[in-house]
Amino acid sequence: MTHDIIVLGAGMVGVGCALHLQAKGHAVALVDRRAPGLETSYGNAGIIQREAIGPYALPRDFGFLWSGMLNQRVDVRYRASEAARMLGPLWAYYRQSAPEHYRRISREYETLIALSLDTHQALMNDAGAQALIAGQGYLMLYRTERELHSFFEVADERAQHGVHHIKLSGADVAREEPALVGRFAGAVRWTDPWAISSPGDLVQAYARLFEQRGGALHLGDATTLRKTDAGGWQVSTANGHTLSARQVVVALGPWTTQLTARFGYTAPVIPKRGYHMHYARLPGKPLNSTVIDAEYGYVVAPMKDGLRLTTGAELARVDAPRNPAQIDAAEKIARQNFPLGERVDAEPWMGTRPCMPDMKPVFGPVPEVPGLWCAFGHGHQGFTLGPVTGELLAAMMTGETPRVDVRPFSPGRFA
Ligand SMILES: Cc1cc2nc3c(=O)[nH]c(=O)nc-3n(C[C@H](O)[C@H](O)[C@H](O)COP(=O)(O)OP(=O)(O)OC[C@H]3O[C@@H](n4cnc5c(N)ncnc54)[C@H](O)[C@@H]3O)c2cc1C
Repeated sequence: MTHDIIVLGAGMVGVGCALHLQAKGHAVALVDRRAPGLETSYGNAGIIQREAIGPYALPRDFGFLWSGMLNQRVDVRYRASEAARMLGPLWAYYRQSAPEHYRRISREYETLIALSLDTHQALMNDAGAQALIAGQGYLMLYRTERELHSFFEVADERAQHGVHHIKLSGADVAREEPALVGRFAGAVRWTDPWAISSPGDLVQAYARLFEQRGGALHLGDATTLRKTDAGGWQVSTANGHTLSARQVVVALGPWTTQLTARFGYTAPVIPKRGYHMHYARLPGKPLNSTVIDAEYGYVVAPMKDGLRLTTGAELARVDAPRNPAQIDAAEKIARQNFPLGERVDAEPWMGTRPCMPDMKPVFGPVPEVPGLWCAFGHGHQGFTLGPVTGELLAAMMTGETPRVDVRPFSPGRFA
């Protein structure tokens, strides 16, 4: 079966690319080893983060670094043997998080985030998926006055970039979320983002739209990708077909560079794994919006399957054995304040944020490999940025000028 373009990976990023390439008139095949949206794009906190105009930097204060090294934080954990292998990329991440670099990176990152709601909105309208928006905005909840007021400054700075918020006192929080137990200093309610009731369902709705528009969705293993003598590409599907195309997009999230390395391209991905668990809702005690417990670094989101608690980062290889310690620690704290009933899932879910040392996604042509493109490395905001990435990549692959400067996101910066 011959197509113009094969997209490998049907997470939010791959589906976003497939839809936008299709909209440019290309015949597109989308290949995944599973159904669409079942990996990281399934298990995240479901926020389309219009407020995240700066990416997630590595905190550089001594207190964070020391407690991080002791490996007892709730928001960041590591496995000593694994983190040792990541020392180079982690050191680069630390350096890029310095204010002088972070300011430039944020200016570049903001150009993508600014398009995130519009690009999702367009796809949601076409896919009839607006009902998956569970709510507008979410709460950054603070326990101490000091941290709250320092975050007020961040919020005021972001307001100058058109990002909206409301400052809440502890009493305001109690009024907005009466089911929360305990005393909080206050919160920032970001009012622009959207909270999605089931992230995996949104990816699947977009994938259905791709199929309705004539796109071909296949089960298959991306590692069967090979170059042909004629300068094209081929992939085998699970049912024994061969897909051929002149161009390929590798959008395999944290697995991307395992494949591109075979064609000579690698980039230093820092895998930040995360866990989630669903909890039953307690009768008469609703959680009205998604809440980030900012000082402990976990999220509780009201979702279709219950209250979803998601953890911060575990620095470990994508395929290393799971370790429930981080979700257990987050649950222990969350239970003291949030209306969590019994666990709903048999096991915690786990996924991997593919993070780059400079905190920016990677998309564009793979250097020196004609016809090979990639789109990965979206870190903490890939659910937010999948559609905008697809739009920009599709413009590049069609020889058009993308609406924002895409040079800061070029794969060539790691070559
Ligand atoms: C706990 C947690 C909370 C998060 N919360 C948010 C949030 O609120 N908002 C936000 O914007 N982002 C959030 N993120 C980040 C976001 O989920 C990711 O950045 C995003 O899902 C990455 O999308 P992706 O398409 O690149 O990768 P994935 O969704 O992982 O998709 C990769 C695809 O490649 C496929 N694949 C892999 N190997 C092969 C192979 N050999 N053959 C065929 N197919 C293959 C997989 O099956 C998968 O479908 C969160 C992440 C975590 C872990």
